[in-house]
Order: sequence, then C-alpha cells, then structure tokens
Amino acid sequence: MFIKMLLFILSFCLIPAFAQAKLNILTSYPYLAEVTKQIIRDRDEVSSLSMGSTDPHFIVPKPSLIAKARQADLIIANGADLEVGWLPQIIKQANNPRLNNKGFLEVSEHIQLIDVPRELSRHHGDVHPYGNPHFHLDPHNIPIIAEAITKRLCEIQQTNCNYYKENLKDFHLRWKDALKGWDKIGASLKAKKIVQSHTLYNYLIKRYDLHLIGNIEPLPGIPPSSRHLESLINVIKEKKADLIIQDIYHSDKAAKMLSEKTSVPVVLIPHDVGSTKEAKDLYSLFDTIFERLSR
Ligand SMILES: [Zn+2]
Repeated sequence: MFIKMLLFILSFCLIPAFAQAKLNILTSYPYLAEVTKQIIRDRDEVSSLSMGSTDPHFIVPKPSLIAKARQADLIIANGADLEVGWLPQIIKQANNPRLNNKGFLEVSEHIQLIDVPRELSRHHGDVHPYGNPHFHLDPHNIPIIAEAITKRLCEIQQTNCNYYKENLKDFHLRWKDALKGWDKIGASLKAKKIVQSHTLYNYLIKRYDLHLIGNIEPLPGIPPSSRHLESLINVIKEKKADLIIQDIYHSDKAAKMLSEKTSVPVVLIPHDVGSTKEAKDLYSLFDTIFERLSR
C-alpha cells in the first residue's frame, strides 16, 4: 500500500519534469508579437522589446531590454536593417548563446523588398540602404510573416510543430476573411493622391495602387529643408493631393504647415499595434488604417 502511495505521489512530481518547457520569445516590434501569439497561443511566451508608440528606427537599448534578451530562446526581428541602430547592441550585450543561428529570425528574408537603392549607401543619410523595411503595412505580407515564424518555431520546438501548424492554418482562414474587407476598401482608394511624412506606407500604396505624389522627408530619415517643403506645396497644388498622411512619431509641424497652405487634410495613421488607442491588435491596426485612409 505504501509503495502504491509512493508511486502515486512520484508520478505527480515527475509530470512537470517531462512537460515541454515554454519558449521565451522576444520580438523587436509589437506587430511581430501579435503574429507570434496567433501561432503559439498559450503554449509559449512572447513579448515585444519596443512599443507601438515609439519610432521603430530609434529604440534605446536599455539594460532592461538586455536583461530580457539574456533570458530569451528566440528573438524575432523585422530585419532589412530597421533595427540596425539598437537590436545588435542588445544581442551582443546579452551574450546569450541560444540567440545564435536558430534563435534569431529576421522575417525580411521572406519578403520581396521594394525601394531597393541602386547603390548600397547611407551616404545621403538614407536610413533604408537595403530597401524599404516597412513591409508589414501591406496586410498581404502578414501571412508570409506568420509562415516564416511557424517554420522557425517548428525547428526549435519540434514537439509542438503540429500544434503551431494547426494554429497557422486557422490564422490563414481568419486573415483571408479580414483581407476581403480591406481589399474592398483598398480598391475604393485606388489612385487617391497621397503625401506621406516617411516612406512608411509604400507597400500599402503599391498594393492598392494609391498615387504617392511626395514625401515630407526628401530621403528616408532626413528632415525636410524649407526649399523641399516649398516645392512640395507646389506639387500638392498642381497634382491636387487628397490626403497628407502623418505617422505618430515624427513631428506633425511640416504636415500641418502643408495642410494650412494647401487645404489638404492631414490624417494620423498608426504604423504598429499600440500606435493609436484604436490599433489594439493586428486586426484593429488594419481596420484603423483603412478607415482613416478612406476619410
Ligand atoms: Zn523607415
């Protein structure tokens, strides 16, 4: 009887030892954490190193972020040099061997980049020398990103691979449904004439055939001179722009000035989950973008 009791107690003690440990996943941006959540659900842990309310090009590599990276099993990054100013420093200082090889994923490797400069150079101050890294703002790229994340998770945590794949299948179906609605709004935006602050929305502009007539920044990352703004006023008037789109982290001073001089409205568009209070998750991020673009 005593032996039976002992075995019974022991079996409970041993279960946790054999259970699969949860992966501790970090992402560079909130949208990547949201995509990852669709795949891992509650089986692993994921959090973002940055918030949607900050400039994605310039995150401060604080000690608290280094401490998080030290504990991580996998870091999922946007790539295409978007994190070049901060994430390599965090990874270097974390000195975590799990982040070598399979423990680091750049989803940009799975995306066909646009705006690739003919010459690879930061000579003029261009912050995007490898092409435009803001591909997640085309909602058709989100399933590609979800696939890349699933593939990597399967490589790291093989025992959960079927679970991840089932969740990916489910996500594909839900996203396909949402895309129908966004594509319909997108079609109604065709040829809308847009001015934007930074080259954030080029993938979305290309997808839905909007007409980009100018950028407030003469080159990505370069603030406008008064001469550049003067010529932009002329272009806006000549080409009869419909909308000036402003992101949440650049100063809106130039956009407001252009609007005052041309009577073209400025609309604030979120670039990530958490950028505006409406953009609470992946779905509401794109709902908000399309709702605001159709104003
Ligand atoms: Zn950028």
